[in-house]
Amino acid sequence: MMKTLISLAAILFWLTPAFAQAQDQKRPIFDTHMHYSHDAWDVYTPAQILEKMDKAGVTKALVSSRPDDGTMKMLEAAPDRIVAGFRPYKVSTSLASWHSDPDLLAYSEPRLAKRQHRVFGEIHINTPENLETPEMKRYLEIVAEQGLIVQPHTDAAMLRVLFAKAPNLRILWAHAGFTEPASVVGAMLDQYPNLWTETSFRAGDIMAGGGLSAEWKALFIRHADRFMIGTDTWVVDRWHEYGGLIGEHRAWLELLPADVAEKIAYKNAEKMFPPTGN
Ligand SMILES: [Zn+2]
Repeated sequence: MMKTLISLAAILFWLTPAFAQAQDQKRPIFDTHMHYSHDAWDVYTPAQILEKMDKAGVTKALVSSRPDDGTMKMLEAAPDRIVAGFRPYKVSTSLASWHSDPDLLAYSEPRLAKRQHRVFGEIHINTPENLETPEMKRYLEIVAEQGLIVQPHTDAAMLRVLFAKAPNLRILWAHAGFTEPASVVGAMLDQYPNLWTETSFRAGDIMAGGGLSAEWKALFIRHADRFMIGTDTWVVDRWHEYGGLIGEHRAWLELLPADVAEKIAYKNAEKMFPPTGN
């Protein structure tokens, strides 16, 4: 009798939303837009960052930091969970000047020469002129030599200029263009087979009006192999609310077909960044 009651309880639990949520919590997330920059170091240790990831069900992360030491701290703390990206920034104002700053190139070259990074970015590219400097020429040479993925924060127009200049780049487009509508993101993915994108800062657009936008849903299904999750912990406040940022993404992932959700949650990123065995 007791046994029957227990099985009955198990079946009833299986039917509840709590079970669905528990299952969903188990879906791994690969966060492809993480920063562990200077202002976060005194607030959270790498071990505490890893705890936050564990709590949110984030198994792996692509990290880039200002300065790069933050990324190296995370890589050292969990080499099997962290993919290193390189941003050529030492201070916050570097994002506007790095394209033509010889000091930042001198800072970057020996670090990139160690070949610990798999991504060049997140980088900010604002104007076509940014691509025409001697420093940028050298950065693009290093990217090609090392086969790095580029993670630019740009709009669609600037991304087209970048692809025109370097058609063989493999690009992980930060924030799906930040403000670009689903139709533009879709057109870019249609046109460029070497383009992937991540959804940091986009949960509000994807869930506009509280439900999953039909346009974004159709796009996720059509290009299920090209989307990834990102949070963008660019200031320490974003670390305070990390669990909530992942939760916002889980909310819309849950409304997609399971195979599509799994690709976007972690499988696409796992494919782009297979384990190196280090
Ligand atoms: Zn960005």
